[in-house]
Amino acid sequence: MEVLNHQGFKIEIDRGFRFGHDFFNLLNFVKSPDCKDLDRNSIEQQCDIFYRDIMNYGFVDSHNQHLCDGRFDLAAKNLNEINELSLDPLTGLRKKEFLKRKLSSLESDVYLESISDFSLIMCDLDKFKDVNDSFGHSVGDDTLDLFGRLALESLRASDYGYRYGGEEFLILLPETNLADAVSVAERIRETIEDRLHIGHYGLNQVTAYDLSKSVINSDDPAIDMNDAFFLSKDLSCSFGVANYLHCGLSDEILFSRADENLYLAKEKGRNKVEF
Ligand code: GH3
Ligand code: MG
Ligand code: MG
Repeated sequence: MEVLNHQGFKIEIDRGFRFGHDFFNLLNFVKSPDCKDLDRNSIEQQCDIFYRDIMNYGFVDSHNQHLCDGRFDLAAKNLNEINELSLDPLTGLRKKEFLKRKLSSLESDVYLESISDFSLIMCDLDKFKDVNDSFGHSVGDDTLDLFGRLALESLRASDYGYRYGGEEFLILLPETNLADAVSVAERIRETIEDRLHIGHYGLNQVTAYDLSKSVINSDDPAIDMNDAFFLSKDLSCSFGVANYLHCGLSDEILFSRADENLYLAKEKGRNKVEF
């Protein structure tokens, strides 16, 4: 198809168009310096967002027509809306449908030496069935919601967290060796252990609480948290970590090793990181 810029110049791109160097050229072509009616800065920013989203999600096909119009505002807006759609509404993490694409882009980045390595963390909430059984499904949902927010807080902007199943999550960590991935998993494990708590305080409804933002001050020595909360339960999760280089550059081995390590973490009593 043809892409036109504001001066009416056009270049050809097709469905198999590669979004590496060529795509930067395309962006430069579309955001022609002669389009005086548009604010340069905002075009620059939108191109960055646009580029990031396309690199992350490979959404270009459905948006070719906006590129074609040269209407970057609209393209960026739509891409951002799609970015929203790519998130799991309950946890705010990405949907698992987008994992495969990211994984293959990381593999090709390693192959092309634009990154040196990446790691995978698998995470599963411990005894989550008990949460539903004791407090009901809606409290279970609140818990997953809060888990997502806490996990996102512990991730770096460059990491990609996905909801893989009901209470199972995957995290891809570009440019991260095994030891650093283990530290990230350990940080999330501690965050969940320290902060994610189910219960109700006084006459409040039972729900999931972030203890660090709780209505009651857990540092106050006069308050015993065990007394303050009723029906109280702490949450934990288990982690399996694996590294792409260590797994001989095989995504299959990477997944099965992370899975085995997660299984081991469960076997060893849960609330653990195994690698
Ligand atoms: P383990 O420590 O071995 O992982 O125990 P578990 O109870 O977490 O494991 P199991 O796989 O037996 O149970 C997972 C539970 O997660 C069962 C299911 O009802 C619950 N679950 C999955 N998705 C959701 C969801 O979206 N909302 C709620 N409330 N519960 C969910
Ligand atoms: Mg599970
Ligand atoms: Mg579980």
